[in-house]
Amino acid sequence: MAARPAPYLDDLNEAQRAAVEQLDGPVLMLAGAGTGKTKALTARIVHLLVSGRARPNEILSVTFTNKAAREMKTRVGRMLGQQIEGMPWLGTFHAICVKLLRRHAELVGLKSNFTILDTDDQLRLLKQLIAANNIDEKRWPARQLLGLIDQWKNRAWVPSKVPASEASAYNHRGTELYEQYQARLRELNACDFGDLLLHMVTIFQAHPDVLEQYQRWFRYILVDEYQDTNVAQYLWLRLLAGGHKNICCVGDDDQSIYGWRGAEVGNILRFEKDFPGAHVVRLEQNYRSTAHILAAASGVIRGNEGRLGKELWTEAEGGEKVRLIGHWDGEEEARWIGEEIESLQKGTRGIDPHSLDDMAILVRASHQMRAFEDRFLTIGLPYRVIGGPRFYERLEIRDAMAYFRLVVSPEDDLAFERIVNTPKRGLGDKAQQTIQATAREFGVTLLEGARIAIDEDRIRGKGGGQLRMLCENLARWGRMTGDKDVTHMELAEIILDESGYTTMWQNDKTPEAPGRLENLKELVKALEGFENLQGFLEHVALIMDNETEESGAKVSIMTLHAAKGLEFPVVFLPGWEDGLFPSQRSMDESGLKGLEEERRLAYVGITRAEELCTISFAGNRRVFGQWQSALPSRFIDELPEAHVEVLTPPGLYGGGYGAAAAYGGGSGIETRAAEANVYNSPGWKRLQQRSSQRPVSQPRESRTQVIDLEAVSAFEMGQRVFHQKFGYGAITGIEGDKLEIAFEKAGTKKVVARFVHAEDD
Ligand code: ATP
Ligand code: MG
Repeated sequence: MAARPAPYLDDLNEAQRAAVEQLDGPVLMLAGAGTGKTKALTARIVHLLVSGRARPNEILSVTFTNKAAREMKTRVGRMLGQQIEGMPWLGTFHAICVKLLRRHAELVGLKSNFTILDTDDQLRLLKQLIAANNIDEKRWPARQLLGLIDQWKNRAWVPSKVPASEASAYNHRGTELYEQYQARLRELNACDFGDLLLHMVTIFQAHPDVLEQYQRWFRYILVDEYQDTNVAQYLWLRLLAGGHKNICCVGDDDQSIYGWRGAEVGNILRFEKDFPGAHVVRLEQNYRSTAHILAAASGVIRGNEGRLGKELWTEAEGGEKVRLIGHWDGEEEARWIGEEIESLQKGTRGIDPHSLDDMAILVRASHQMRAFEDRFLTIGLPYRVIGGPRFYERLEIRDAMAYFRLVVSPEDDLAFERIVNTPKRGLGDKAQQTIQATAREFGVTLLEGARIAIDEDRIRGKGGGQLRMLCENLARWGRMTGDKDVTHMELAEIILDESGYTTMWQNDKTPEAPGRLENLKELVKALEGFENLQGFLEHVALIMDNETEESGAKVSIMTLHAAKGLEFPVVFLPGWEDGLFPSQRSMDESGLKGLEEERRLAYVGITRAEELCTISFAGNRRVFGQWQSALPSRFIDELPEAHVEVLTPPGLYGGGYGAAAAYGGGSGIETRAAEANVYNSPGWKRLQQRSSQRPVSQPRESRTQVIDLEAVSAFEMGQRVFHQKFGYGAITGIEGDKLEIAFEKAGTKKVVARFVHAEDD
């Protein structure tokens, strides 16, 4: 099917090509946004495969999100012109480490079926420890301890390695509690996210034979978004690359935005020291954005000190300037953006019509999302929230998952605690204490403790009977996981029905109940793409973003952090107000560190846009129920005038520009208040001065668009494909992200497209 011998190389510029073809030894690609780092990294994987240097399972390739991993896999397949046998080691640090740790869990005192705790579980556990240590949780919140422990883990400090300088942390008890926490995790056969890496680093350091095995196995290592690795991740990589040193890292120091989570931009700046003789490639041509967008982004990031200072250029001249608009309040901002999106959908002012999939709203703080969600629900504008209040974080989903967890691993005490009296089984505090005490007495899990407590008649009455039933049910469901005649979807339904959990919500009269039942159905649906319950639980523990995918175009709403690495033709950046963006915390901090990280975040935001970037701010905003007024962000002042066009806000000066006209004039009171508030601020005045010089908005020049052929759907009717579980088959139907496939052995089934590969020649 390939017209040329190596189209994946022809698509690259010279510098990219050099980075791709330099297969051996350390390579660093350090370049600004949109210069094709990820593209080159993907081509490099293809090149490794085509040149026969490595098989798919010998390449270790780290991406920042699961979504990015999936995308890269698909792209490798397309560039290759054929589907590969899966790339088992292409994923996030966490996804890769969880696989490795399952193989070697016993080396850190865990069993291979360990559970991965989420933040809620972690907190519950810490609260218990805090209480057991007679510490007043009100004065010394569990969250604080959690933050501390996370931070230590990010730095790859096991309890014994926490330095003396940290001794005063958490009222001088931090280290001690960290140690207890780790011990308790081991008892529970559980670990938290930080442990996935920490344990692997510990294992590699303590067992050179294991390390060597993987150094040999992973012949080539590739890392995207290297600027955001933390110390534990960095050590892990350095250990693995220590033998052959075939490591290629790509990143951009200007896009380091996870310092607050322990990322060390120093890792990327130190690369050449860590890997002497490293081949360093710089890329300067940006293929993503128009010149105006690029200039605006560069203007902002210039305000940071201590940068490597990369200049970017683009051939994409012309296009709209970056647009700037102020609003009376957050609701109005959401309303305006909603209208704007609708007119961009139709095509407006010389801008070609855009699909909703082309548009994204990138917020600084997740609480900003509510206004957009509310507005879009009202006007019926389809949207998806990525990485926001996640589906899997909802109460009913977490309850249901706790049932599943307990069925898969009966020693999961936290899951047991969560569901033992949900739905109500007449097991009050006293009964639960009895279970706890029994478990302690016999040194067994809570579930086992419950069984003993019933057998010994320690819990009587209605509660006792119900508990007995729960225990019996759990044992039975556990056996059913091995039953070939029951699919795991059916089992999930059985669990939710027989436990009484579904009935609980059916009987619930609150307005949320119907939605919760819907979500439970969604959950069972989501199981479909997985081999079994355990695979699914693992997946959920690992996903960072909302992945309930329905068909149809949608506007994306996400945080700036979640937008890293992505690109959209149309981007809205709302909430550019001091105190929100940059965040209050970064402004209060002494020193510039926090503020500079916020500025990098602004840079990341602007550089996501390909054609149209709109920055907005509101004079008033309701944050957690309280009205606050604000000044336009200081970053607005840093936007270079020549590349910005100031739009007149609706309701002010009688509208007059685009969607502004749709609202006519605002009420007099509003206008006056708005003028007194926002529009008299120094930032706004400067903007007004600028806008008086603004040229009449010109129709956009038509620009040759980079059409992403890779993003066009991979499948067609009749195509022969391969599914990991069901083998080969032909596509007989395509419906959203599901495919109907007539499998040669397994019969006709509907499966999630993500698990289907084009036929492997
Ligand atoms: P970020 O820093 O935001 O992660 P990046 O450096 O990883 O950006 P990519 O996402 O790889 O950049 O590329 C940006 C866009 O430019 C993509 O749409 C990609 O397909 C396109 N692109 C990259 N290199 C080329 C090239 N040589 N020719 C044409 N288009 C290219
Ligand atoms: Mg990238």
